Amino acid sequence: MGHQPLAPIYCALSLALMFLLPPLKAAATPERLETNAAYIYNAPNWLKRNRAEKSIRRIQRDLEWSIRRVPVYFYKDVDAFTKAHSLGPFVTAVTVSNSKGSTIHLGPKVTNDNFDQVFSHELVHVIVYQKYKGAIPKWLEEGLANHLAKKKKVDYKWLAQQKLPDDVTTALVHPLNTNSYNDAVFKYKASQALAEMLSKKCDLTNLLRLSVERKMQNYIVTYCEIKDLNATFKEWVKKKAG
Ligand SMILES: [Zn+2]
Repeated sequence: MGHQPLAPIYCALSLALMFLLPPLKAAATPERLETNAAYIYNAPNWLKRNRAEKSIRRIQRDLEWSIRRVPVYFYKDVDAFTKAHSLGPFVTAVTVSNSKGSTIHLGPKVTNDNFDQVFSHELVHVIVYQKYKGAIPKWLEEGLANHLAKKKKVDYKWLAQQKLPDDVTTALVHPLNTNSYNDAVFKYKASQALAEMLSKKCDLTNLLRLSVERKMQNYIVTYCEIKDLNATFKEWVKKKAG
């Protein structure tokens, strides 16, 4: 046994001891919540492990994947959160993925009210990275995350009044790369509308199954039989708005 005296604080044994020795319990506030899919640091008091597990279970089931554990950080401070990403002032939470894996950062705007939806959204990004690699198109990723996180359905009357892009596959990439909040919101909503369209016109579960490490965009044509994505999208928005 090496000597890393601090590490066992978080193991199951110390949790069991806390349980057996009630006087220690109050003092020993756990510094992180542990699940198989995530270590959650600086969790606020309202967040309990079971609640985090619920989002994890649902998104893992929908995307048929067991997450390789990722760190999740809560931020109380806007500046510290802003420093953790470089995506500007509009973001509530962010998942950073690179060769070392994914990390979820939850900003001060993540609350008891919106946690489940925000966390579920970020978990979709983690699985998109771990399981699908580059298979899910960038123009769909944010919308798919919103759709699976059960964000409120798109307001098509509003969307139909916006100028829809001629090519969604280029226009909806990097939705936060803008100075306009409205522009960012539009791109998220349009992407979510595309996810809603695919789940209606296609079997989304099967489409996702086919797309593991293989470009989904090809299956949208062959499996979903959507030959002209942009024209189909414009028709879809019009129909839903009417
Ligand atoms: Zn996102």
